[in-house]
Amino acid sequence: MAALLENQVAFVTGGSRGIGRAICLDLSAAGATVIAAARSEDQLTTLVAEAQAAGHTGRIIPLRLDVTDRAAIDAAVEQVVEGHGKIDILVNNAGITRDGLMMSMTDEQFDEVITANLRSVFWLTRAVSRHMVRARYGRIINISSVSGVMGNAGQANYAASKAGVIGFSKSVAKELAKRNITCNVVAPGFITTDMTDVLPDKVKEAVKPLIPAQKFGDPADIAAAVTFLASPAAKYVTGQVLAVDGGLSM
Ligand code: NDP
Repeated sequence: MAALLENQVAFVTGGSRGIGRAICLDLSAAGATVIAAARSEDQLTTLVAEAQAAGHTGRIIPLRLDVTDRAAIDAAVEQVVEGHGKIDILVNNAGITRDGLMMSMTDEQFDEVITANLRSVFWLTRAVSRHMVRARYGRIINISSVSGVMGNAGQANYAASKAGVIGFSKSVAKELAKRNITCNVVAPGFITTDMTDVLPDKVKEAVKPLIPAQKFGDPADIAAAVTFLASPAAKYVTGQVLAVDGGLSM
């Protein structure tokens, strides 16, 4: 039987760690050729080895890329399309936090997060969608957050960037639906990664009772949602925000 995403090319940002890493592994297990983009080369190298050792049908190809560098994004997308002929699936996953209360937040703290989490999504989507339109096929999946849906004290910059990703994605979905391109959002709740490891234990324990599932999710929970949205089964799903959060945002 053919693999679910055989002959598909996926471009995933933030592939070196956490959720992005799990997405790369899941898409490659489903047969896609995965371009895993991030700044840390070492972690990308171990990711490639991990997929090979697991005998995944699809290959993972590491790509060093800083998503805050627009020129580098444009060059990377051209390089991938030249090398692989197309990009079928774009997953905008790279993201950062620079938490702090709004009243004492600096311009730098605000702008850094908006650039890494929102402007990068615009730049990548613009560059990749030009090729998708020509191919009359595409799946764009953007990783937002429950913070972008509900807001979160101490994360005004991050919540603004993640809410921006939702509005951006719905607009792109409306612009590109007739070209056979879908654009959806996955909004994770608390997922165990480096990003949440830095939270003080006392914060983690205070959060758990607020989650109906009473626990944090795994990166693989997010990856499964992304693979579904990239799969043929989701061809009529667009402009949606799929919360994968143990019920937190209900
Ligand atoms: P991690 O901090 O574990 O990983 C972040 C990833 O983003 C790394 O691969 C990092 O790679 C990459 N990245 C960061 N900045 C850049 C950059 N400038 N250029 C390229 N890559 C970059 O985060 P998570 O895996 O937890 O988060 C992944 C996504 O999920 C993010 O968008 C986050 O906001 C979102 N999310 C996470 C939640 C959670 O609970 N963990 C909850 C809700 C949303 P490198 O450093 O190698 O460049």
